[in-house]
Amino acid sequence: MDLKATIKTYFKENSDEIRNRMIVLITEMVKEKTVNVVSEKLPEHPYLKIRGEEYRVAEIVKRELDKNGIEYDEFARMEGRPNVIGKLGKNINGKRLLMPGHMDIVPAGEGWDTDPYEVVEKDGMLIGRGTLDNKGPLASIMVAAEILKKLKIDEELNGQLMIAALADEEAEDPDGIDYGIGYLMDEKLIDPTYSIIPDIGENMKSIDIAEKGRTVFKIIATGRQAHGSTPERGINAVYMMAKLVNEIEKMKFDYEVHPVLGHPSLNLGEIHGGAAPNIVPGTCMIYIDIRSVPGMTKEGVIKQLKACGDKVENGKFEFQVMSWKEPHAIEPKNEVVDVIQKYTKEILGFVPEPMGQGGGTYAKTLTLKGVLAVGWGPGDDEAFHVANEYVEIQQLVDFALLTCLCAIDLLQ
Ligand SMILES: [Zn+2]
Repeated sequence: MDLKATIKTYFKENSDEIRNRMIVLITEMVKEKTVNVVSEKLPEHPYLKIRGEEYRVAEIVKRELDKNGIEYDEFARMEGRPNVIGKLGKNINGKRLLMPGHMDIVPAGEGWDTDPYEVVEKDGMLIGRGTLDNKGPLASIMVAAEILKKLKIDEELNGQLMIAALADEEAEDPDGIDYGIGYLMDEKLIDPTYSIIPDIGENMKSIDIAEKGRTVFKIIATGRQAHGSTPERGINAVYMMAKLVNEIEKMKFDYEVHPVLGHPSLNLGEIHGGAAPNIVPGTCMIYIDIRSVPGMTKEGVIKQLKACGDKVENGKFEFQVMSWKEPHAIEPKNEVVDVIQKYTKEILGFVPEPMGQGGGTYAKTLTLKGVLAVGWGPGDDEAFHVANEYVEIQQLVDFALLTCLCAIDLLQ
């Protein structure tokens, strides 16, 4: 019998069991507070010994992989923050498809109607921190792997499907050290041909093929402190910065409109200056967040910002690049997009369309390393990082089926 027909029949005949299996798995994973924050914020979360504590969910993932006889690798840059990669299919010389979910979550925050770590089922939805981002989709791909194994379809694959539970997606420390996908790729611990990352929402209706770059700049204006009663003796750094801010607001980026990503953006997100009303502020600092489109370079952006500084008479500014991530975009027509569109149309009756976004996912890291990677997955995009986060159970079941079909197609 045709493998894809076997899978479809299995999902049809066992839909209740698959659904329940997923709920049990998600409920167990959501109980684990794998909260990832930057080091500076760690003291606000006394239940955490280290950032993320992804090992808590990794234990569940490994137990399930063992139970189902699925081989896996475990890689950790530091103890307590492992990455677990389940492997289906023996032919590592064939194509390799990576389906990663992340185990860390953002803090629960305020405003919940129920306990964020106790999953509640309501009107076909699962509510709880991480149900969508990203433990629900992770459970969905784990169940897909279980079924492929159970039906022995893994033995028919002419390549390898990697079901990955990864660490460190939600927060980046200023040191830039990555414990998840960046670590795995930098150390060449995995070498995927393709990747589908279920971490964008859009209810499977869009495929993320492009993401803007992200740069954070810190700009410091330096004046001279003086007593507040004799401002003429000082140089007010806040006034100086105000003039620069004015210029930055008027600044037009040098770029070409990207067909998918459109225009770059700039946000002045923080301003700090001064210590007391009776002191002329000696320094003032701003942080700006720039989302760039392909064609824009770090050097080009710095040059433009400095030109703004030059327009401020007697201005003294220091420009620091806090982080720089390149924009990326792949061709909207490719074999991964093709299979996603083909099977989503067949199973769900609509065709997901390629799109670009301003945020960054694993797709960026992978694409910049030469992997054909797209973002695509279940869930409402409004449910990310908010109180009462939710995901529709049926979408997770559908996504598991589509995962199986896409994997079979790409790896045969
Ligand atoms: Zn996420």
